[in-house]
Amino acid sequence: MDKSLTCKDCGATFVFTESEQAFYQEKGFTNEPTRCPDCRAARKQNRNNDRGGSRGGYGNGNFRSEQREMFPAICAACGKETMVPFRPSNDKPVFCRDCFKPRSRF
Ligand SMILES: [Zn+2]
Ligand SMILES: [Zn+2]
Repeated sequence: MDKSLTCKDCGATFVFTESEQAFYQEKGFTNEPTRCPDCRAARKQNRNNDRGGSRGGYGNGNFRSEQREMFPAICAACGKETMVPFRPSNDKPVFCRDCFKPRSRF
């Protein structure tokens, strides 16, 4: 059964749907939500901002000279050892900077 709850932040009435209740149970949450979806989303955003998430650019002092994790790989074309900004997988050939020349995408 759907339940009507009142948001403790903004006082709005919102519906705690049956499927949400099932979701909460599945997660082991024993409490009903105390905030409407809007306030929940807002809080979530704030939390993400505080932590300076991995995406989004302007973190708290995280803005150093583009330090990406690099992985060692062997170039499939010339056999030279190289570093790539992604984890090399076995099914895809990896090329060094000399052999890998992007065409349209920079
Ligand atoms: Zn609310
Ligand atoms: Zn190469």
